[in-house]
Amino acid sequence: MKIGILGNGQLGQMLAASVTDLTDLEVSLYDLRTHEESKLTAFMNSVDLVSYETENIPAEIVSQMEAVEDKVFPSLKALKTFQNRLLEKNALRAAGIATADFHAVNSLADVHQAIEKLGLPIVMKTTTEGYDGKGQFVLRKPEDAEAAWEAIGHRELIAEAFVPFQRETSVIASRDRDGNINIWPMTENIHHEGILRYSLYPVAELAPEKVEQAKRYIRDLANDLDYVGTMTLELFETEQGLVANEVAPRVHNSGHWSIEGTEASQFRNHMLALSGKTLGSTDAKYASVAMVNVVGEEDSSLKADGISNAYRHSYGKEARPARKLGHITVVADSVAERNQTVEELIDVIPEGVWKAS
Ligand code: AMP
Repeated sequence: MKIGILGNGQLGQMLAASVTDLTDLEVSLYDLRTHEESKLTAFMNSVDLVSYETENIPAEIVSQMEAVEDKVFPSLKALKTFQNRLLEKNALRAAGIATADFHAVNSLADVHQAIEKLGLPIVMKTTTEGYDGKGQFVLRKPEDAEAAWEAIGHRELIAEAFVPFQRETSVIASRDRDGNINIWPMTENIHHEGILRYSLYPVAELAPEKVEQAKRYIRDLANDLDYVGTMTLELFETEQGLVANEVAPRVHNSGHWSIEGTEASQFRNHMLALSGKTLGSTDAKYASVAMVNVVGEEDSSLKADGISNAYRHSYGKEARPARKLGHITVVADSVAERNQTVEELIDVIPEGVWKAS
């Protein structure tokens, strides 16, 4: 069976690498950056299944994918829903999942209406194409409304009520073609300047009701959309419970720990799900795991090479500020042991950002 992945970045590469032992699966990657219409048609016609490593796929490519809709997984409906923050919020609400209150913004007058409806602060985001905190603005004072509207470039926006969260977490699941769902243990995700810097398993002292809530959320959402493949739900933890931030219709950076940390990785289960095979177990193999991103400077990650419980992944990219160049996964029999190892790698994490204890 031939599987074609749109996108040949690190996620596409890790998807391909996850099934190299399965000789009946042949994976090829399509470079979205050198896209040409005829090249994409030929690519999609040459494979049995089409998947994608990113939801940031331009509209003209999405409409080209419609010609082969039956072999696209996750479905085009899922892709289109999660490409657009308004459609995404509506899908979340329809599945009974808590989200921030929100208001569509298409003009400066709408910004003022949003302030009235939601109060301040509000987070303004472009409805499409935002990632790693790009295309966002936190509006704290009414007099900054115009500056926010200017700064974000008069685009189609969504204004969200600011969620006073305690922690950011995510839950990832794979759903197969028969509707079976395997869910990975949750992680706590720590960002710095809009970029994920590390994820921790387990989430320290997470109430069992919240774990159940996260599982219910992702199960209901995946079932509602008849979703096939790996899906990620980013969740704010608040005192009242979990509030969904956003959904990625794909494998996610906060799930990279699953390569070494769980029986089957998020990548492998994605490929198994679309190709109609049985999903692997998502059980953790270690008591404690950390996934630390290497951002901007590749050299610092070299330190991981001498450490036996640290696995270094390099994406083979040129160093550039704020660019994700690789990640290091630390596995351990205890939280204390994990933290000690991460602290040996601490220069991969910006000063003051490591706060596990
Ligand atoms: P996003 O691109 O939607 O994942 O947002 C990037 C980051 O901005 C999140 O990881 C949060 O730290 C923060 N953020 C986004 N939306 C909200 C919100 N409604 N309330 C508070 N913080 C938010």
